[in-house]
Amino acid sequence: MNKDQLCRMLEHDQGLSCSVCKKESKKHWTNSDGLENDLTKVGDVEPEDSRGYDEYKERGSNPFSETAPLSLSYYPYNCSSVYKCGSCHAVILIYLETGGHGARYQARWAQSGLEITP
Ligand SMILES: [Zn+2]
Repeated sequence: MNKDQLCRMLEHDQGLSCSVCKKESKKHWTNSDGLENDLTKVGDVEPEDSRGYDEYKERGSNPFSETAPLSLSYYPYNCSSVYKCGSCHAVILIYLETGGHGARYQARWAQSGLEITP
């Protein structure tokens, strides 16, 4: 799923909170709380030019903040899958974090209005 396809999906997002996906608590990367089991996977992020484990830090942006762009060629977006909430149609990105102590899934709500870079 490339930038344009993702952009189109974000247009269907409804509301600022949701009792199913709890997107309001996932404006930045955080524990997925098992969403990878509850939501429908619609595809994988297709980066235009994958940068491996490089993180997007241009213009001083913190890749783990609420306002960080969806920088698809950079970590961890370049290894994320795209999930959709059946209730509010929000797009939630999920990846498997393998650093540190054991693997765990991390999730971020791909909020419409965020900058997306290919
Ligand atoms: Zn939802």
